[in-house]
Amino acid sequence: MSLFEEDKLRSLVVEGAKQVYSRGLVEAGEGNISVRVPDKSQMFITPTFNTYKDLEKAEIVHMEFSGMVLSRGRKPSSEYRLHANIYQARPRAMAVIHTHSPYATMLSAARKTIPVLIEEQVIFLGGFVNISDFASAHTQEFSKNVINALGSRNGTLMANHGCIVCGRTMKHAIKMAELVEKLAKIHYGATQMGGTVRISEKSCPMFIDEFEENFATHSNRILQCEED
Ligand SMILES: [Zn+2]
Repeated sequence: MSLFEEDKLRSLVVEGAKQVYSRGLVEAGEGNISVRVPDKSQMFITPTFNTYKDLEKAEIVHMEFSGMVLSRGRKPSSEYRLHANIYQARPRAMAVIHTHSPYATMLSAARKTIPVLIEEQVIFLGGFVNISDFASAHTQEFSKNVINALGSRNGTLMANHGCIVCGRTMKHAIKMAELVEKLAKIHYGATQMGGTVRISEKSCPMFIDEFEENFATHSNRILQCEED
């Protein structure tokens, strides 16, 4: 990898981190953002104890999916394994963002899924937002549960923890992290007003097609609907 390419990937992680921080989706010391190194089993990821505000390119950690750190300086986020496992399971995923954004985390603590409430959700996320079974963070079981809950979609809540999204680009991943939080807010608010009325994924095939063409990161399409 050339220095130019490395600089570009480090910049992408910093940009993603600053964007999610400025939108209130993460606070200092929580969440993590990464990009895959194309054609390698490697990624660049935010460091542990990341304060976001002053994050610089030099602090971004270059590492193997196996856990071996290739750069000097900061240690990687303690949740690096989850990012690595998602890249391994999804060859088309180029960026992963994990947040503890307030409404998504609230729903994850209540162990609620988010049904399809708006069509935009189908286009970017591929359908309803599932919730993973609980496992201790940083474990292989945790990764397995999250990947299962993702199914063929691009985002999921993680039981009593927060949410995670993956995209073909950092821009997509930022959009998805924002969207999951917005949906969690809508779901919570509509529930206070007497409940939500869901849309079925099956009723909007053109949006599923748009998802598949432009945003999907899974390797096998399985249209799973919440009502199934
Ligand atoms: Zn976390």
